Amino acid sequence: MRQSQLFTKTKKEAPSDEVSKNAELLIRGGFIHKEMAGVYSYLPLGLRVIKNIENIIREEMNAIDGQEITMTALQEKETWEPTDQWSDEKIDVWFKTKLKNETELGLAVTHEAPVTKIMKSFIQSYRDLPKFVYQFQTKFRNEARAKSGIMRCREFEMKDLYSFCKDEQEHNEFYEKSKVAYQNIFKRTGIGHITYLTFASGGMFSKYSHEFQTITGAGEDTIYLDEVKGIAINKEVNNVETLSLLGLDKDKLVEKRAVEVGNIFTLGTRFSDALNLKYQTETGELKSVFMGSYGIGPGRLMGTVVEALADDKGIIWPESIAPFKVHLLVLGDDEAVSTEANKIYESLVKNNIEVLFDDRKEVSAGEKFADADLLGIPYRTVVSTRSMKDLSAGAGGGIELKKRTEEKGKIVSLDELINLLVTRT
Ligand code: ATP
Ligand code: MG
Repeated sequence: MRQSQLFTKTKKEAPSDEVSKNAELLIRGGFIHKEMAGVYSYLPLGLRVIKNIENIIREEMNAIDGQEITMTALQEKETWEPTDQWSDEKIDVWFKTKLKNETELGLAVTHEAPVTKIMKSFIQSYRDLPKFVYQFQTKFRNEARAKSGIMRCREFEMKDLYSFCKDEQEHNEFYEKSKVAYQNIFKRTGIGHITYLTFASGGMFSKYSHEFQTITGAGEDTIYLDEVKGIAINKEVNNVETLSLLGLDKDKLVEKRAVEVGNIFTLGTRFSDALNLKYQTETGELKSVFMGSYGIGPGRLMGTVVEALADDKGIIWPESIAPFKVHLLVLGDDEAVSTEANKIYESLVKNNIEVLFDDRKEVSAGEKFADADLLGIPYRTVVSTRSMKDLSAGAGGGIELKKRTEEKGKIVSLDELINLLVTRT
């Protein structure tokens, strides 16, 4: 992509009403646009990051036999009433609306009840179980606070998976697999080293649920971390019973600020009982399906990456989710330099290397460098009279290559650059 063609532009200042670092950097970089507090549009650069995150999540969900669907944002009162979650006293973040004939509707807060109803038309016998379904879909929540940028939105995308098993034992097997899949996702998106399995309160059917908490000062949660064991507990379960059950020593726990990037929850038969999702066992008995739910917010994950990895110059994207792999900058208006830069651009494109080409005219070298730091693309390559100094003498070179995280670059040839980038995918 040629930066001169990109409709978004970088900004020197973030909107004055934006207090979070993630929103500030993402707005300045042109990744997102703020519609209102807690509601953001994703622009070309931001959408590329989200799609990369989604694809990693999708691969890991498919690997544990998840089947992808899309459910609706409009939901019926009748679907939620039997589960006792329609009333505003029980769920205080509903956005509700009405049809012309006064029928009450809600905008999806979550999808346990609708997915249970869908599965009722397909699950009848033990032969139909287990099944795992997931989606990437919009949730609406009238959150009281919306000061954490894209980490806490009133409209946001969630990946939610729901598991349907014959019994608790079958459920537990899947639940353990889902933990590994989640850990893979956080590793692959570049926050594995600062993300911890955290014990949280469970519900009727299990003592604990699990959150995946990423350490960052921007987090709204407090966790207590055992750095040696690599597990944490949250506030709700910070008590003597939990400590002894998990073999944790109170004095060794460190209090940390963190953000919940994902969570997994044993629902048991709460929804299948309420909505009558039953199956026939091998002996002909009718039993309620045993369920679980598994959520991740791709937008919250993206915001968390920005918060946790950025430096004072801008964003630092892990290669796996970066909007482009390489940022190619051409400096000055020398014709030979510009011809060479265009040749390099074409050749990267031909080799399927995702490249953003800063071919903007009348933008100073200093501004291009500052923008490259702000946008945070992993490899910065520069073509200039200086980088091409040895090229004409036939000594190779021609491109200055520097990682976003490095202080100093080195001169490489086009072949070397392509080799380096191709083998790294
Ligand atoms: P929190 O306690 O932070 O409000 P939650 O317990 O309500 O989160 P779930 O309803 O289980 O979270 O949602 C699953 C995942 O969706 C969360 O782990 C998070 O990644 C994401 N998520 C939840 N609420 C928001 C939000 N308001 N904006 C963006 N992402 C969110
Ligand atoms: Mg919440």
